[in-house]
Amino acid sequence: MNSRAFSTLQRSSITKLIFQAKPIRIHRGYTASLLNSIRKQQFPPNIKYVHNSPKPVPALSLPEQILKYNKEWAKNKTKADSSYFENMTAVQTPEILWIGCSDSRVCSDVLTGSNFGRVFTLRNVGNSLSTTDTNSLAVIQFAVETLKIKHIVIVGHTFCGAMEAAFKYNSLNGPISDWIKPIADLYNKNKPTIDALPTHKQQNQALSELNVKRNVDIINSLDIIKKTKKSGKELNIHGWIYDIENGSLQDLKVS
Ligand SMILES: [Zn+2]
Repeated sequence: MNSRAFSTLQRSSITKLIFQAKPIRIHRGYTASLLNSIRKQQFPPNIKYVHNSPKPVPALSLPEQILKYNKEWAKNKTKADSSYFENMTAVQTPEILWIGCSDSRVCSDVLTGSNFGRVFTLRNVGNSLSTTDTNSLAVIQFAVETLKIKHIVIVGHTFCGAMEAAFKYNSLNGPISDWIKPIADLYNKNKPTIDALPTHKQQNQALSELNVKRNVDIINSLDIIKKTKKSGKELNIHGWIYDIENGSLQDLKVS
């Protein structure tokens, strides 16, 4: 096939066919006729074709999708406001420290409609604090002393996997076992009340709410919190529960 015919084929929508044929004379009208034959998959005897299966385009992995999305997102943000990211380099001044669960369904910025700079965040399995957990304590200290945040919110949620883990604590092992232990202890302490609830959702939620209260008490017991409150600076502690089933946040009034 000569280059003109091949070029015509390339211009056509049929680009996945490879023709193995001796050069043939192309004349006006033949190309259209040939293309028509290809469409019908009927070929002149001097043309043999191999249908080369299209190479599958590898699907992007989730990390690749995220990197790709991020590029577009950053480009669009800059397009809408050329100083958008430059403005981010100024100091952050959030007024809230959100302490929530790592659960992928409870993204604080998404469910509160927050833009960058509004919510300082600590998330871990079961929104749990411990007076021996340096990570949590450092976040709280930085939030209170340096960022001078005015509100700390402990946010539990329904259908929490950490509560489920506490229900079956004896089957756990490794670090998660150590981490869940205080929640499991809380469950055992309140087992008759929790187990008496009619549905598993209610049982999970009840333990989640008790866990919020437990963590509010831990926060209030910290020296850094006591010192800040005593100094007269504004600092409020809140306990909330987020219902995955309907997207609502509820104040448990356990400050
Ligand atoms: Zn959770």
